[in-house]
Amino acid sequence: MDTTPDLSRRRWLRGGLGTDRPAQSLPWAVPWSQFADRCTRCGDCVRACPEHIIINADGGFPAIDFARGECTFCGDCANACSEPLFRSRDELPWQQHATFGEPCLTRRGVHCRSCEDGCEPAAIRFRPRLGAVAQPELNRDACNGCGGCVAACPVGAIEVVKEEQA
Ligand code: SF4
Ligand code: SF4
Ligand code: SF4
Repeated sequence: MDTTPDLSRRRWLRGGLGTDRPAQSLPWAVPWSQFADRCTRCGDCVRACPEHIIINADGGFPAIDFARGECTFCGDCANACSEPLFRSRDELPWQQHATFGEPCLTRRGVHCRSCEDGCEPAAIRFRPRLGAVAQPELNRDACNGCGGCVAACPVGAIEVVKEEQA
C-alpha cells in the first residue's frame, strides 16, 4: 500500500489560496474526503462557471475564489461534472457566511459601505454609532454565502467561512 502523504491534498485542505483556511469548496459539493477520492481534476466545472470564479487550486482540485466574483447558484458547475460529486440542487448549496476582519476600513474611522452594495440578499447592515463610523453587521439568516461582498471590499477584509469554522 502506498503510504506517501499526498501533499497536494493537504495543501488544498490548508487553503490552496495562500491562507490557513480550507479552500472554498464548490456549491453542493460532497464532503472533501469523498470529493478528493472521485474528482478526476478534469476541469469541466472550471470551464462551466459563467462567473469564472472556479480555479484550479493546489493539486489541480477545483475551488472557488471569491476575489473573482460571486456565486449565482446557477448550478452549471455541478451539471457539468460527470462524477457523483454534487448533492441534489434541491438541497442548500452550502452552510457558510461572511465575516468582517481587522482590515475593515470602518475600524480605522474611514467611511465605507462597499460590501453592502455588493450584497444582493441585503444581509449586511450598517447600524449608526454615536460619534463613530458605522461598521458592517451581518444578518446570518439572510447571508447565503455567495461571496458577493468579498470582491466588493477594497481592502480584502471579508472572508466567507463554513459554519463549523466560525
Ligand atoms: S453555481 Fe454557477 S456561479 Fe456558482 S460556482 Fe457553480 S457555475 Fe459558478
Ligand atoms: S456572502 Fe453574499 S449574502 Fe453573505 S454578506 Fe456576502 S454578499 Fe451578502
Ligand atoms: S467593504 Fe470592506 S472595508 Fe468597506 S465596510 Fe465592508 S468590510 Fe469594511
